[in-house]
Amino acid sequence: MGLEKNKILMPIGGRSIVGLTLVAFLAAPNIRDVILVIRPQDDLEIRQILNDIGDSERVAVVYGGAQRTDSVAAAAAALKRDISHVLIHDGARPLIKQSTISAVVDGLSDYSAVIPTVNVTNTIKVVADNSVQKTLLRSQLKAVQTPQGFDRKLFERMLSFCEQSSDSYTDDAAIVEAMGETVYCVAGDVSNIKVTNAQDLLLAEALLKDNRGGAMRVGTGYDVHRLVEGRKLIIGGVDIPFTKGLEGHSDADVLAHAITDALLGAAGLGDIGLHFPDSDNSYKNIDSLVLLKRAMQSVVAKGYKVNNIDATVVCQSPKLRPHIAQMTANIAAVLQVDEDKVNIKATTTERLGFEGEGLGISAQAVASLSC
Ligand code: MG
Repeated sequence: MGLEKNKILMPIGGRSIVGLTLVAFLAAPNIRDVILVIRPQDDLEIRQILNDIGDSERVAVVYGGAQRTDSVAAAAAALKRDISHVLIHDGARPLIKQSTISAVVDGLSDYSAVIPTVNVTNTIKVVADNSVQKTLLRSQLKAVQTPQGFDRKLFERMLSFCEQSSDSYTDDAAIVEAMGETVYCVAGDVSNIKVTNAQDLLLAEALLKDNRGGAMRVGTGYDVHRLVEGRKLIIGGVDIPFTKGLEGHSDADVLAHAITDALLGAAGLGDIGLHFPDSDNSYKNIDSLVLLKRAMQSVVAKGYKVNNIDATVVCQSPKLRPHIAQMTANIAAVLQVDEDKVNIKATTTERLGFEGEGLGISAQAVASLSC
């Protein structure tokens, strides 16, 4: 690209290319660890990117070699022993979709080598010295993408094969072909482009915006907890003096939960139960602001920022008004936004319904995000 720095460090949609790529893999259900192969001179910036992603304990960083196969070998040395399959991906393909990762992973249950491919739209000719030698039959051609998936045992054999071979390979599947074994193709995705030149940056930016579903997104959250004796009453991170408290696996902060769900919903990230299941004992009695913070990290990792949050706590008693300012300050601090972007309201229900009868407290929230 003629840039001063590595293209994978270039930002698109508010995040580096490699950061976007990492986030996609860290979010994929079947991916356990990621080994990132980098150049030593990019180390500092890469550490910063990992820090921003906030899930960096699942990412190992190793230095690559002169050839592609050297870099793959460096990553192989960092592979954990019990990993059964390996996916190799170009860091410069940040628009990788979950559906493509899944297609490759699913293919590996039947095949040892799986690659995503797309149809070729241009007619391809073999050219030498500016004269056409022949025209290839387009219906037989496929353009190959990554991630390319391999069974671990085959992957180990590919490494030994490369050590003994003097040929260089432009993609990893070509090694399997050279070994005389089958490479299976699954459907790739035309938007999974490799950012190679300056125009690709513009294209990637536009595709990213499209993937994210437009400029603004909205999510809603709703939560209820029962009021019981012998528990603290925590709402919006404020410990409110009262004879009863909210029952739950965590600290049962009904407002924090509703806002967490609104944020996850707006980002298309499912819900709080998916991210922090009740069955996980590490969340027992946890400060729900910690969960909110983690959810916010996932939202930021997808490249979104908060426009505003609006929430209502439905509670007959105690009176919440004296605590609203502190709740607002707590939530804004966790989300790292100005307090005027967080609006919290409280209402009673004129003694109607479970909230009105003092059996429980509910909260509703709306979150608006932008790319
Ligand atoms: Mg809850």
